[in-house]
Amino acid sequence: MIETTVELQHIRAARERIAGKVERTPIVLSQSLSDRAGRPVYLKLEHHQTTGAFKLRGASNAIAALSAEEKLRGVVAASTGNHGRALAHAAKLEGIRAVICMSRLVPENKLDAIRRLDADIRIVGNSQDDAQQEVDRLVADEGLVMLPPFDHPDIVAGQGTLGLEIMEQVPDAASVLVPLSGGGLAAGVAAAVKGMSPGTKVIGISMARGAAMKASLDARRPVQVEELPTLADSLGGGIGLDNRLTFAMCRDLLDDVVLLAEDEIAAGIRHAYEEEREIVEGAGAVGIGALLAGKVKVSGPTVLILSGKNIDMSLHRRIVCGEIIAERAA
Ligand SMILES: *Cc1c(COP(=O)(O)O)cnc(C)c1O
Repeated sequence: MIETTVELQHIRAARERIAGKVERTPIVLSQSLSDRAGRPVYLKLEHHQTTGAFKLRGASNAIAALSAEEKLRGVVAASTGNHGRALAHAAKLEGIRAVICMSRLVPENKLDAIRRLDADIRIVGNSQDDAQQEVDRLVADEGLVMLPPFDHPDIVAGQGTLGLEIMEQVPDAASVLVPLSGGGLAAGVAAAVKGMSPGTKVIGISMARGAAMKASLDARRPVQVEELPTLADSLGGGIGLDNRLTFAMCRDLLDDVVLLAEDEIAAGIRHAYEEEREIVEGAGAVGIGALLAGKVKVSGPTVLILSGKNIDMSLHRRIVCGEIIAERAA
């Protein structure tokens, strides 16, 4: 078997490829979180990225790397919403056909945004695994090119460009807290951060309800976990039992993985809104939630990635008003 990995040079090449297609997002000092932590805490405002999440970095890089023949065939992916939206956006810019397969767990606001980008949408089953089966069928039957949400070198390298920006913006960062699901973001960011600053710690944050990467790291091999509804809906889904890239990279590069209860995620969303004046979705709020819950010890300048903002606004209102739905607050 050929060992694949993504290194600093691939991430630098990705940055050249996607220049002009994605925003370099700002980083700001959070006074309130710095006061609590007793250390400077910075927020990487990646939820201000075009399409509302970092996924545009990987999607733009993967599409730019396609051959002319592959571009003619079109692309297909399973998604919890944000990858689909990013892929649809990047494909539309290039005039490429995009088919996005999603489960019924994907929120309506995310579906609407993808529809508006003229992508072809398929809703199948109740999990990412069900959506993936439809992807496999379309690859076999219609010859579409699969660009998965995380387990692909061009996707990981694209997400890694976020890590390059962080180390340029906060060169003395001691820790970087990264939302973690399939691990494309964490693997790419960790490869960039550790490539530039080997001593900087990179910590993954997942929700306790269905944390597939954490369960897999504990088992020392990819394992399946049940997918459950969570406020961090963008962190749902497995890592793939045949994971080729992100499992090994997360195993080798992450210093720790921390899990959050639903009320801790809600507290992160609320703090972002009340104190930072930022609207973030559950997955984007887990870094703040982890700090507020005292689940990570910070030893120096710390960067939290606010990874996305695509939350249903009526849900957001109920969370900031303190009305969290009981069955979701595990
Ligand atoms: C996809 C996503 C994540 C998790 O990224 P992975 O590469 O799957 O670990 C985190 N936050 C948001 C907003 C996302 O859309």
